[in-house]
Amino acid sequence: IVKYRNVTKSFGDHHVLKGIDLEIHPGEKIAIIGPSGSGKTTIIRMLMTLEEPSSGDIVVNGKNLWKMEKKGQLVKANEKHLREVRGDIGMVFQHFNLFPHMTILENCMAAPIHVKKENKDEVRERSIKMLERVGLGDKLNFYPSQLSGGQKQRVAMARALVMRPKIMLFDEVTSALDPELVGEVLEVIRDIAQNDDMAMVLVTHEMEFALDIADRVLFLDQGVIVEQGTAYEVLVDSKNERVQSFLKRFR
Ligand code: ATP
Repeated sequence: IVKYRNVTKSFGDHHVLKGIDLEIHPGEKIAIIGPSGSGKTTIIRMLMTLEEPSSGDIVVNGKNLWKMEKKGQLVKANEKHLREVRGDIGMVFQHFNLFPHMTILENCMAAPIHVKKENKDEVRERSIKMLERVGLGDKLNFYPSQLSGGQKQRVAMARALVMRPKIMLFDEVTSALDPELVGEVLEVIRDIAQNDDMAMVLVTHEMEFALDIADRVLFLDQGVIVEQGTAYEVLVDSKNERVQSFLKRFR
């Protein structure tokens, strides 16, 4: 469903990604781990077209997000294709990014109605179901400012799910939360992982959780995928020194 081929990214002379090759298969649950600044967030932001690669290809559903012109310039795919791709991908960020002036129900309904031009009643029904699913069915008319961080993050997930994405991206979604709120958010992700057939890419520092739900784990260090394998191979059984010394911090 997604293919990165030799993707690099530099900010000025800071080479953040140095040749990433990565395939995401339909339904696959992938966790990306690694030290701070290793480029994890940049990898997934590119898939949302929030960041452009410096070189290389990213292909989604058989179509390039960017193409390289002869002069070495990258050119974005046409808007129609980018819209389709964005419609297939849901992203949940570290800092919720909810619309503060809308109720949580309105937050969930906004994109399907305004971007996908879907029927309002259907979207409302689906949004209510999703908010119930994340345990917020009794707060439909609350504003984000009236909710805890964990609740806001669950709204952000419901909002992404209402779009019925083929891929869900989670970018350190628990790292801005108070420790006692982390569990409720992980539970929602676990529920999605176990019951929905969408692909998931999870940037996380929750190693136990990654071990539990990920089909495949990638360890990224200094812009390179240093190791990848099943969750057990990378998180429990790795022979790689960099992986081992990174994981020690979590024991
Ligand atoms: P963390 O776990 O701390 O979130 P990460 O592995 O997700 O780290 P990225 O957020 O992908 O890392 O960032 C990788 C590097 O790229 C960092 O050194 C960061 O400062 C730099 N970087 C990211 N975005 C930009 C930007 N827009 N302009 C300049 N530098 C950036």
